[in-house]
Amino acid sequence: MTEKKEKKIRGTVVVTVERCKGCGFCVEFCPTDALKLSEQYNAKGYHPPVLTAQELCSGCDMCGLLCPDFAIYGTRLKARA
Ligand code: SF4
Ligand code: SF4
Repeated sequence: MTEKKEKKIRGTVVVTVERCKGCGFCVEFCPTDALKLSEQYNAKGYHPPVLTAQELCSGCDMCGLLCPDFAIYGTRLKARA
């Protein structure tokens, strides 16, 4: 198996943890299964989302479009050479 030097990061998410109510919409509808609900709780007692694997996120912002509480958004990053 050949190994690449570094996987290119294409996107990431920004989560405002305290706004999240743990509904899971972002996790359910992420097209690349890049999200899961964290084991951690926020102050309201909900599990906010975290990336399962950075390289899976395309930065498409589907999560941001679907979140009812504006608690997450996706953004594209410049590819690293
Ligand atoms: S859609 Fe929004 S409120 Fe629901 S789990 Fe995701 S970040 Fe939290
Ligand atoms: S930005 Fe797109 S790929 Fe990244 S976590 Fe959100 S829905 Fe998934």
